Amino acid sequence: MWNNPKFLQRLEESGPNSNSNNDTKEEVAYVETPEDKENFDLVFKDVFLECSLKHGIVEDMVVCENTNPHLSGNVYIKFRDLDSAIAAQADFQDRYFDSRPVFAEFCGVRSFEDAICKMFRSNECDRGGLCNFMHVKQPSQGLLQELLKSQAKWSAERGAQRQRV
Ligand SMILES: [Zn+2]
Repeated sequence: MWNNPKFLQRLEESGPNSNSNNDTKEEVAYVETPEDKENFDLVFKDVFLECSLKHGIVEDMVVCENTNPHLSGNVYIKFRDLDSAIAAQADFQDRYFDSRPVFAEFCGVRSFEDAICKMFRSNECDRGGLCNFMHVKQPSQGLLQELLKSQAKWSAERGAQRQRV
């Protein structure tokens, strides 16, 4: 089993917290509305399901809410198998999201856990959005677990169907 994060997909977010032109240290205060949260969940679910249904088992997925240009809007997806990651990376190369091109590439992050800012989790990161560790934007509570559970069920059913053929 190949167990490293396989590819990185950069989505240029178009939401009000987008700040792709951030070359200053200023950060704009932003309050997420319920509609923003709902839209984020929909995009999160959509990306997860597309990757899972088209390319293979997704083991983890995180979205960065950092404001620095090299992390802002990045989506990291960890596939169980190398072939799935290769297929997904190729498939996303010619794609657009909200009229902006998607840049999908493999990344050297070996562990999401090591790349995630522990201080951000406890609201104590004094580097703010410019931090070089991942500031993970969380989907609604339980969404990722629900997607992983559905994927496991669907995958098991598909495996059972193949054995019957
Ligand atoms: Zn941080």
